[in-house]
Amino acid sequence: MTTEGTPVIEGLFSETADGPRLVGSRCTTCTTPYFPKSSLCHNPECTESKIEDASFGPLGTLWSSSIQNYPPPPPARYDEPYEPYALGVVDLADGLRVVGRMAVEDPASVQVGDRVELVLGPIYHEEDGTEAISWMFRPI
Ligand SMILES: [Zn+2]
Repeated sequence: MTTEGTPVIEGLFSETADGPRLVGSRCTTCTTPYFPKSSLCHNPECTESKIEDASFGPLGTLWSSSIQNYPPPPPARYDEPYEPYALGVVDLADGLRVVGRMAVEDPASVQVGDRVELVLGPIYHEEDGTEAISWMFRPI
């Protein structure tokens, strides 16, 4: 997986010495994770909203998945010709459930329960060839 290129959206993920992480926040009172960042805790049972920055990943378990068999509507972008890909819903070990594209050659190979790791990779290319990078999950 390459990590050259430009993030699809700035501020959602970062590269650390230990690999990529999702950038979010967590309430220190009730431990609810938020991605993207939240300035307030939205847990109705939480007694006091205390938000601090948090990063999430890299390990998790695939909770659900589906194959995107047709091109997603705008503003989503993709390379032509369109190639179906697998989308996963992953439970990260640190408590966040998050959607991401699966970094696999064969979208049908993805199985619920797969152990996965967070990776960065291109989801499309700009006209000048620059890779638009986002987070993905790769079975391990
Ligand atoms: Zn809270």
